[in-house]
Amino acid sequence: DSKEKSKFEGTWRLFKLAVPLDQDPGKDSLHVSDALLQQIATVLKFPVASLLPPEAFTIVRKSFDARKKLKEPKFVHTVDMDVQKLISLEPRCWDFISRLEPKVGLVERLHDERDFGDLASIIHDSKENKVALKGENGHSIFSTEFYKNQATRKPNIAVVGSGPSGLFAALVLAELGADVTLIERGQPVEKRGRDIGALVVRRILELESNFCFGEGGAGTWSDGKLVTRIGRNSGSVLAVMRTLVHFGAPKQILIDGKPHLGTDRLVPLLRNFRQHLQNLGVTIKFGTRVDDLVIKDRHVLGVMVSESADKLHLTSQKMEYDGVILAVGHSARDIYEVLLSHNVELIPKDFAVGLRIEHPQELINSIQYAELASEVCHGRGKIPVADYKVANYIDKEDFNDVSDSGVTNRSCYSFCMCPGGQVVLTSTSPSEICINGMSFSRRASKWANAALVVTVTTKDFEALNYYGPLAGVKFQREFEKRAAMMGGGNFTVPVQTVTDFLENKLSVTSVPPSSYRLGVKAANLHQLFPIHVTEALKHSLVTFDKELPGFICNDALLHGVETRTSSPIQIPRNGDTYECTSVKGLYPVGEGAGYAGGIISAAVDGMHAGFAVAKKFSLFHGDV
Ligand code: FAD
Repeated sequence: DSKEKSKFEGTWRLFKLAVPLDQDPGKDSLHVSDALLQQIATVLKFPVASLLPPEAFTIVRKSFDARKKLKEPKFVHTVDMDVQKLISLEPRCWDFISRLEPKVGLVERLHDERDFGDLASIIHDSKENKVALKGENGHSIFSTEFYKNQATRKPNIAVVGSGPSGLFAALVLAELGADVTLIERGQPVEKRGRDIGALVVRRILELESNFCFGEGGAGTWSDGKLVTRIGRNSGSVLAVMRTLVHFGAPKQILIDGKPHLGTDRLVPLLRNFRQHLQNLGVTIKFGTRVDDLVIKDRHVLGVMVSESADKLHLTSQKMEYDGVILAVGHSARDIYEVLLSHNVELIPKDFAVGLRIEHPQELINSIQYAELASEVCHGRGKIPVADYKVANYIDKEDFNDVSDSGVTNRSCYSFCMCPGGQVVLTSTSPSEICINGMSFSRRASKWANAALVVTVTTKDFEALNYYGPLAGVKFQREFEKRAAMMGGGNFTVPVQTVTDFLENKLSVTSVPPSSYRLGVKAANLHQLFPIHVTEALKHSLVTFDKELPGFICNDALLHGVETRTSSPIQIPRNGDTYECTSVKGLYPVGEGAGYAGGIISAAVDGMHAGFAVAKKFSLFHGDV
């Protein structure tokens, strides 16, 4: 009866549906295969899998699992089942559905989730003044419609920085009717690509257009990993992912267990994003740097800007705004100084520093996949190019061979692992070396790199006599400068084999090749960091080798230095309004403000800030 039926209708999520590798239709397929239907039939206890209509099921997650203890490698799926559709297409399923038992982590009924949908398709119904967000299939998947206010004056909002956080804040505000100006010190992706080419080939570092600065922010010439620790299935993360698909990302990112884009896909996506913003009337000012904030009575009234090429700020010009969203990332150290000069509160934050390790990708494939490694086929096969993630907690007791000061519990972990990628220079000054990793979508290079970083705290900064809100920035700079000195200049990166590092020696003659294009020089990296960081790295390398046998080898090369893992400060803001607690009208967002770490979390933060600012200026009422 209908009461009984209502207990089951809606969407049910089925987890851990495993399909052996040889029965999978291909790693990029979104298709519900016969082998997957068989697994679904087993969960439903439905006798004839071929009678199940594939249209009633949607794959929401697909991950490759090749753990060594498994008998055979497999793709593990999470699938959503639309009960109404299933019953209408195959009424004989009802008996089986009505006996379905929820089991945590295996079978769960989904209750109405708040879901933003695709942010680039916000629909305004002018008659009813209703606003809705449109989903992929054209139907509204937004659970609480809200109402646009037309009577209000259009607020004039500056978004400073076109990284993920700035772009998503600008998108939401422009969609909801604000008058938005996006100010970016770097260049659009076309010109930025040429500047990065000049850096990699001719060693010319454009101070305002490089791996950190320019359209798309720090994440453009990156690996484009879209993994996040903020809840993969949350409505906000899905909204960001769907919006990326709207601008040209492949649909697979919505289901892939470890989605990534690669630089070659990010660049055209950003061009589409820009076009969409311009169509909405957003003014985009590239090559324009914010040099100062205009503040009166603890209220931001606007910004001072100059052309980025103008180092002396001679062309400085005042621009007035009702609100300023500060989305400048954590490499804009000059902006931290500006904030301090206006007595904006900045709180030093713990972060992590370390080295980037590089191995031949084939070695990582064989450590992770054993004999299956030969099927990886440079990213063309069914099996994804292998990655890894390692972490180690080091207890105080493990440091008993070093002097007492600075001894504290620390974590050491791999960070931003780039399979099939390359090591790149992310310095924003010629006297400093700092590196990171990037890749293209196929991850076809012969190298695997990852940062190995150790947590550092205020205690570490103070041990080097760095105090105050910018102590962490000074600490980063210290090691970036030391790395530049050890490399001998010209962006040459100091390197050491892992085996030499563990033995604290230098075999200059035997440096293995590196993917880093600007040259490497053998150096004793023991002389780089405080002893406790070095000891933590050594201790952890030995632990990692137990988990990934072969990780310590003569081909593994450590590169110095990785310092910009996350922001060294946080700018306090109100949790609901996103407004800075020190000055009104300023909205610090994204990684540079200490509220995100990575492309997706930065985009989500920018999106929420966009809604918060739109609400403040009464662009809509209702709940989001
Ligand atoms: P940003 O992306 O840093 O953007 C800030 C923008 O503000 C920049 O474009 C900058 O030019 C602009 N700006 C700064 N100051 C001013 C000013 N005064 N005036 C005007 N404009 C200004 N994360 C992942 O999740 N996955 C990855 O695979 C990944 N790989 C990475 C690889 C590399 C090489 C790098 C450098 C980073 C990588 N990251 C990755 C980290 C990721 O890029 C950042 O977490 C993310 O971009 C932060 O977004 P954001 O918007 O907060 O700041």
